[in-house]
Amino acid sequence: MDTDEFRKYGHEIVEWISRYFENIEQFPVKSRSVPGSVKDALPEIPPSGSESFDLFLKDFDEIIMPGITHWQSPNFFAYFPANSSPPSVLAEMLTAALGAQCMIWETSPAAAELEERMMEWLRMMTGLPSYFEGVIQDSASSATLAAIITAREKVTEFASNNEGLSGTGRMRIYCSTQAHSSVEKGAGVAGIGRKNLVKVPVKDDNTIDPEALRKAVEQDISAGYIPCCVVATLGTTGTTAIDPLRPVGEICHEKNIWLHVDAAIGGTALLLPEMRWMADGMEYVDSLVFNPHKWMFTKFDCSAYFVRDAASLIRTFEILPEYLKTRTRGMVNDYRDWGIPLGRRFRALKLWAVIRSYGVEKLQTMIREHIRLAKMLAGLIEAENNFKVMAPVHLNTVCFCFQPEGLTVEQANKLNEKINHTLNDAGRIYLTHTTVNGRYVLRMVTAQTGVTEHHVLDAWEMIKDCASSLLSERSAVDVD
Ligand SMILES: *Cc1c(COP(=O)(O)O)cnc(C)c1O
Repeated sequence: MDTDEFRKYGHEIVEWISRYFENIEQFPVKSRSVPGSVKDALPEIPPSGSESFDLFLKDFDEIIMPGITHWQSPNFFAYFPANSSPPSVLAEMLTAALGAQCMIWETSPAAAELEERMMEWLRMMTGLPSYFEGVIQDSASSATLAAIITAREKVTEFASNNEGLSGTGRMRIYCSTQAHSSVEKGAGVAGIGRKNLVKVPVKDDNTIDPEALRKAVEQDISAGYIPCCVVATLGTTGTTAIDPLRPVGEICHEKNIWLHVDAAIGGTALLLPEMRWMADGMEYVDSLVFNPHKWMFTKFDCSAYFVRDAASLIRTFEILPEYLKTRTRGMVNDYRDWGIPLGRRFRALKLWAVIRSYGVEKLQTMIREHIRLAKMLAGLIEAENNFKVMAPVHLNTVCFCFQPEGLTVEQANKLNEKINHTLNDAGRIYLTHTTVNGRYVLRMVTAQTGVTEHHVLDAWEMIKDCASSLLSERSAVDVD
């Protein structure tokens, strides 16, 4: 493709994207593809000769689009969002054009220095302590793994990377039963072992029970284990529970344990001064991750990872082959030393575009509105007979279920599952579920970039209609 053709198709694609944003609500939110349908529509062998780009675009519309779930639809209420925004998309085009590998400062000084400045901006925007230094990672999962490995290195006096784990004692990691699966994955990948992840019980509001944590740590110490890391969560994936950092931090401080905070979703809410109560106890925190790619309108991937002691992080991940030796080492940040991969995308550019295009105040307004919508929805649900809110609403997520009188828990679970599938199959909205104390619970997240009050109200009407029409069909509650 020469630049003339590139220009022609480039304009077409920008036009396509603009139309997509304008018409996004016309698509079924959740893809209706059946397994294998996309693969079967693709040729079994690659083309041996050149094909026209028109054909590519035609197949994109006809084969790919039906297999896409529309995460940017304002009727997407599932999981947590993976928010994008027009400035973020534009900046990603430039990143793609540059195609720069941002592994060290020399391979693109602007990428390294913009990343450093953006992490300072994010630190100020969220009110995090000024001693935190940050790096952009591809995902919260990678950042949490980096935290666990750094904690492991620190507790073994930086011997485990060199010597392996066979000579060390048995280490332990702690999180609540509600923590994200990436903690368990990280414990395994870091060589500490999934069995050595202690899942601490939670209180009624799904937050970690600090007394139970203390007991678990003390029992482990007397049994000869080495406590290595505690992971607290600001906004659990199931119900957005907010673990209390202060009592957890006091235990970590007393026992000399690394405290990592998984704020993948909740971190964005720290942009709001009225949500900073979540940060009480931050002085005990060693590292924290939050995802602008979830709730801060910055296209995936962009995970902000902050550490108190960047030197420990670098000591853990630094490795210096001859071909990467530079004259600027020590004067600049070489971010390959701040995480696992060598190669790194230029992710700071889209963050810069988003923060400048909206400005901090508009970002705060949007996030505040998402929280207001969640609380408004919770109020409507509570006011409705037969519906019940199943967890406190602090952020952007409402967990609720339909519980008409006379149904057993088993029947209600089946009915709520049916409501979820019926709504998603109809394609106008998309919700997912979780379980709370053995109950199948619907989960609605009001945090999409374009979501407004009318989207939430319309969705709530659809949910109520669906629930009552399924209840009138007896088969929906027959338990087989
Ligand atoms: C989404 C989520 C993660 C994982 O985030 P990735 O960036 O996809 O790895 C981790 N923790 C919590 C609480 C999450 O909600």
